[in-house]
Amino acid sequence: MDKKKYLIPFSGLALLACGNEVQEKPNIIYVFPDQFRNQSLGFWNDEEYSGHVRWQADPVRTPNLDGFADESLVLSRAMSTCPLSSPYRGMFLTGMYPERSGVTLNCMALRPESTLNPEAECISDVFAANGYSCGYIGKLHAETPMKNDPANPGHYVSDRNPEWDAYTPPERRHGFSYWYSYGTYDVHKDPHYWDTEGVRHDPHEYSVKHETDKAIEFLRNENGEREDGAPFFLALAYNPPHSPYECLDDCMAEDYELYKDMSYSELYVRPNADTTLSKAPSARYYFANVTGVDREFGRLLAELEKLGLDKNTIVVFTSDHGETMCSQGTLDPKNSIYTESFNVPFMIRYPGKIRHRVDSTLLSTTDIMPTMLALAGLGDRIPETAEGRNLAPLLMETGECDIPDAALYIRNLDGEKDKEGIVSGFFPVARGIKTDRYTMEIAINRDMELDRVLIFDDWNDPYQMDNISWKENPELFSGLCGILGRKLEEANDVWYREDILGILNLK
Ligand code: CA
Repeated sequence: MDKKKYLIPFSGLALLACGNEVQEKPNIIYVFPDQFRNQSLGFWNDEEYSGHVRWQADPVRTPNLDGFADESLVLSRAMSTCPLSSPYRGMFLTGMYPERSGVTLNCMALRPESTLNPEAECISDVFAANGYSCGYIGKLHAETPMKNDPANPGHYVSDRNPEWDAYTPPERRHGFSYWYSYGTYDVHKDPHYWDTEGVRHDPHEYSVKHETDKAIEFLRNENGEREDGAPFFLALAYNPPHSPYECLDDCMAEDYELYKDMSYSELYVRPNADTTLSKAPSARYYFANVTGVDREFGRLLAELEKLGLDKNTIVVFTSDHGETMCSQGTLDPKNSIYTESFNVPFMIRYPGKIRHRVDSTLLSTTDIMPTMLALAGLGDRIPETAEGRNLAPLLMETGECDIPDAALYIRNLDGEKDKEGIVSGFFPVARGIKTDRYTMEIAINRDMELDRVLIFDDWNDPYQMDNISWKENPELFSGLCGILGRKLEEANDVWYREDILGILNLK
């Protein structure tokens, strides 16, 4: 891949500052609930923020996230490159596109090839090698399930067929020395986890609350969770507001109270939502979990402050992908280029180093790993294998860097299946881009023919209700295809290597 050079004119000054004082390495807390869409942040309707987006926020109560936004850099256009659980997690951990991270599809036992490359140098490997204590709490979902149940050797962790959940043994934890995690499991009030020693825990309580309790123990270092005096990197991966979202088993009653009496016209503020879909009642439970996550995130921040750690801790709040929630007539919450699925929250608070503001930089998932390492002062330790951009100079306003003019979108399907249903490889069904103004997706069928093209003008049609005809707008289409071609080349994507745009006669 053709790595662009970054111009950082102030690096000499940074060296001088380092010579005069010993800079304490910052801690990092990276919080990423699952399926939390950017539109479900209440502050977007507030005066300071509403002018930065062209849509209305959901009618959610998120007071802690609103307060956090006021102290953070808020990115309005962070995009989930491949908006699906496992591919996101592979990209976040490695800074690589799915083809190189190893995670091309959602991990489960019938897709053994889609799994985090054990040799990949992950963000946590780098932090650990540079003196950090690394902890992982919550949902991992980046590895194929293996027959390695610590309590039942030679078996999967459950008898679900096919198995989705997974146990990650110590040799595959990539520098995370504190572990309290699982693969994927969607019972929000009866979660389970395997700890550092491989012991399973079934706490029988709301997972977001339980994981926050564990994170607080980690911050307090109550039981030797981390090395005393060393900086830490904590990844906290809540599962809610992920589905299921159908009844009071799926959220806390106190949060549901806020939404239970709201009508569909109050719940669904997006004109592209179809409330005749069977999923329509889910909004109340989804928003309840948004508020549940908000409350627990607030409790985490309060503890951080109480412990006096807030000033030297970088805190990020984001998500792996969004949730369509009846928009665009689809029942699939994710894995589409529609903005509800593709656009995720991204707020970063670094007191004294990153100024509060709203910024429209098109952040891609592969940019996160190099950027986080550089924010922590480890810019020269970014692995050669990382494929995203280091945007730290832009976020910290310390220098110039290569600002992305578009964000790539990737959607894969299962490759060939054998008689047992075991999948090999993947089929790259669609690729797309988000530019400053437009969203475009090109999808193919399995005969490598053009299936459909979506083009939306996000300035004038923020709810993406009018698909602009590519045939009637050849100049616009060809310009967008040119940008897509360049992004595919930059990502060394299979669409570039196999010249799929050329095969489709779109170059
Ligand atoms: Ca997910």
